[in-house]
Amino acid sequence: MPSESFVTFENLHEVRRLCHWGPVIALSVIAVCSSMAILDSIIWYWPLDTTGGSINFIMLINWTVLILYNYFNAMFVGPGYIPLGWKPENQQDYQYLQFCRVCQGYKAPRSHHCRKCNRCVMKMDHHCPWINNCCGHQNHAYFTSFLLLAPLGCSHAAIIFIMTMYTQLYERISFGWSTVKIDMSAVRRFQPLMPFSVPAFAATLFALGLALGTTIAVGMLFFIQMKVILRNKTSIEAWIEEKAKDRIQYYQTEEEFIFPYDLGSRWQNFKQVFTWSGTPKGDGIEWPVHPKCHQHTLTIEQLKQKADKRVRSVQYRAVEDYNGACCPLSKGVHTFFRTPCTEEPRIPLSKGDTILATRGTKWWMYGDKVLREEQMKGTNFFIVHYYFLLFFSDRLNNPAIRSQQ
Ligand SMILES: [Zn+2]
Ligand SMILES: [Zn+2]
Repeated sequence: MPSESFVTFENLHEVRRLCHWGPVIALSVIAVCSSMAILDSIIWYWPLDTTGGSINFIMLINWTVLILYNYFNAMFVGPGYIPLGWKPENQQDYQYLQFCRVCQGYKAPRSHHCRKCNRCVMKMDHHCPWINNCCGHQNHAYFTSFLLLAPLGCSHAAIIFIMTMYTQLYERISFGWSTVKIDMSAVRRFQPLMPFSVPAFAATLFALGLALGTTIAVGMLFFIQMKVILRNKTSIEAWIEEKAKDRIQYYQTEEEFIFPYDLGSRWQNFKQVFTWSGTPKGDGIEWPVHPKCHQHTLTIEQLKQKADKRVRSVQYRAVEDYNGACCPLSKGVHTFFRTPCTEEPRIPLSKGDTILATRGTKWWMYGDKVLREEQMKGTNFFIVHYYFLLFFSDRLNNPAIRSQQ
């Protein structure tokens, strides 16, 4: 499917993805850092009429183009979505797969439903607010290339900012270092087009802060994604594997869980994602697996975990209404301040609602609301997983509300 490897006309409606705080901030940082680096270079630090200055300028332009190319591809090519209403070819395979009520189809191996994208995403790693899209099968290489190029470009820019400020301040003010002999002849060779003013200094310092911050933050994300690619194990799958080990330990089942998608060598795993064409290997539905595994090794494990979660969850009954606010004012100081640090929505509750909780802190719980018969009518998808539920600590510990356990 070559049309999916670059932005095509059909993707144009995707432009709405830009209208979100993530892309607005990310593109602003790229714009400030690259334009300040170019201005600082050609006006004050390294003018174009020298060979080094020209090479420096071309490199800065190159970083900007490469960064934007990978950024927009990560955003607009997207992770690849499982077709709506998808079914495996073989009817016998239905039993090994979870069903997505929203997409009205089965969840192909390695796919997960993203509530932000509102679709089942191929080899989903996570939903990235900075590209306002998921990081998954199709855009994994673009996304990771962006994570590598942004820190490299920002480091280059940071060097330009530091050198510009250093040379210009050295030129203009005396630090009282008159005894220090530094050869500044290279800088003095030319007369800047305009003096290095206070606003120029402030803008350079601001851009330096952005560049250093980006280098550190995005650089760390690059190492995380390289780990994902070299092991061929997404962040979600690492979590599933962790839970698989937990489950086997808990029930002492003597099973051996082998993660199916790690091809055994880092180079092989790397080549699955990074190809010369830019399109990753595979269709995003069927995957090469470890010789001891089969296509549904992981999905069967997911089904077991889901069943296990149902067994191990605790039933609660809401004792008062809750409107679903992120930081509710009327539920006490602790509940207000200990709100979980996640964008995941909270479930509004009415008195008498039944909740299946899988885990919780003293003030918040994680689980599903069980809808009553009359609420179920007329809705296609009523239980969405992993919401936070609000409770009071004293009621959490009160055995009376566990009567249905
Ligand atoms: Zn779905
Ligand atoms: Zn998403």
